[in-house]
Amino acid sequence: MEKLRSLVAIYPGSFDPITNGHLDLIERGARLCDRLVVAVLRNEAKQPLFSVEERMEMLREVICDYPNAEVDSFDGLLVDYAQRRGATVLIRGIRAISDYEYELQMALMNRRLCPGVETVFLMAGEAYSFLSSRVVKEVIRLGGDISGLVPSPVEVRLKNRVLRGF
Ligand code: ADP
Repeated sequence: MEKLRSLVAIYPGSFDPITNGHLDLIERGARLCDRLVVAVLRNEAKQPLFSVEERMEMLREVICDYPNAEVDSFDGLLVDYAQRRGATVLIRGIRAISDYEYELQMALMNRRLCPGVETVFLMAGEAYSFLSSRVVKEVIRLGGDISGLVPSPVEVRLKNRVLRGF
């Protein structure tokens, strides 16, 4: 049967910065849909290490291997943004039980706000289930080795920002 509409999914997050755990989700998410929009939340209250533009630039550098993935940013309600983009699926990652409660709350609220948009959870890759942007930033601040945890262009930027201040 001919496919009439394409499935657009949004993968929203802070991505401050993108880690190999995020990248694993992007790779797997891109296989599940026709178009994957990796969307950076504009939320200055979180006092990010990198600006939204810097985070989008890093994402663009590393998702070029996935032709059906693109990078965007949004503010306001995620479900409103999803509708504007014609998306019917939200992708989120679950690492440990600690992620579950918050993610469940968000997914139920989003479903209440917009029943036509479904949240799909992907389990973190086992190699990345301990990995978060926050931990990576902490380790680099303390002089630890983060190779293999973030894409190499991101590692360079992190070292410049955290250790050299630019
Ligand atoms: P947020 O501030 O929205 O939690 P993050 O950038 O920290 O933004 O995470 C975005 C999404 O990616 C969340 O669903 C989070 O659970 C998921 N995620 C973060 N790190 C990993 C990882 N290592 N493996 C799988 N999913 C992850």
